[in-house]
Amino acid sequence: MQEIKITLTTSPKEKPADQSKLGFGKIFTDHMFLMNYDEGQGWHDPRIVPYGPIPLDPSAMCLHYGQADFEGMKAYRTASGKIQLFRPDQNMARLNVSNDRLCIPKIDEEFCVEAVKALVKVDADWIPTAEGTSLYIRPYIFAIDPMLGVHPAKHLIFAIILSPVGAYYAAGLAPVKIYVEQNYVRAVTGGTGFTKAAANYAISMKAQEEAEKEGYAQVLWLDGVHRKYIEEVGAMNVFFVLNGEVITPSLDRGSILGGITRKSCIELLRSMGYKVTERNLEIDELIAAYDNGTFDEAFGTGTAAVISPIGELKYGDKHMTINNGEIGAISQKLYDTLTGIQWGKIEDKFGWTVEVK
Ligand SMILES: *Cc1c(COP(=O)(O)O)cnc(C)c1O
Repeated sequence: MQEIKITLTTSPKEKPADQSKLGFGKIFTDHMFLMNYDEGQGWHDPRIVPYGPIPLDPSAMCLHYGQADFEGMKAYRTASGKIQLFRPDQNMARLNVSNDRLCIPKIDEEFCVEAVKALVKVDADWIPTAEGTSLYIRPYIFAIDPMLGVHPAKHLIFAIILSPVGAYYAAGLAPVKIYVEQNYVRAVTGGTGFTKAAANYAISMKAQEEAEKEGYAQVLWLDGVHRKYIEEVGAMNVFFVLNGEVITPSLDRGSILGGITRKSCIELLRSMGYKVTERNLEIDELIAAYDNGTFDEAFGTGTAAVISPIGELKYGDKHMTINNGEIGAISQKLYDTLTGIQWGKIEDKFGWTVEVK
């Protein structure tokens, strides 16, 4: 493995005094990880350096054509003071799935997990300790060729930055209002929906902005072709409990991001004896279940919120209040178990956590 060169900052920043006001992704730690890719050399010069601006040529490709992708994961401080990551191998494997689709050179997954560990160790004092807080880890890659021709880049940067983040639910697990998006689409088969391509988020903002204006937290995306199959919620995967059966859209169409939280929820629920089905699910089936009283629960899953219960779902003029707008039993159980494993309060029988020593 390549050696990671470490240059420590000579002017460390003040750490946030009030951990209840951290929010999400607004504060960054003292250091970042960088490495470069140059054709003929591969990925080289892995280094940890003081956090700061990265010079870019105005013609840098990522600024024009969006050849860029990213990951999102967290480091957790346990009660005994240990630092844990949650399934970091899955993040790096998924980054290579994104890389492949975007003509970005593959990374060495094991090495990049080691890079995450090394950076978290350097900035370990930045991991907040208050209940529900964590250190968000953002690995990302962008093309820097100074060239306006539309071609896969030959020069790229892989970076990792860290951000202490607050408890997602400061006031307890609160159900959110969601509407079903009928104007815009996020992804289509053959596109990039299954990747964490930066461009996927650029094209989703218009819908997000309109939803917020109407008082909704997120949109529920339908498939881009038939406009009837449920895909996901904002940047979360989505689960429904209909008549006691847990259902989540299958990933077959290639237009849904395969979340690590999604995968973990499926494995957890099955280990608890629940029936979980991955299949196509039409919006009409949800409406029918609602009308005959078998729509039990709905929730989103993702690294940031872990579990986000859905209290209201709107489709056109149809307003559906789910479980009286309260958090359902399965959502609560999943949230307690997953966060319990992540913060080391519950024994990890699955081998999902990785200690940063
Ligand atoms: C990141 C992301 C998710 C959730 O993935 P996790 O690995 O669970 O964090 C779901 N959908 C989209 C579109 C995403 O970008």
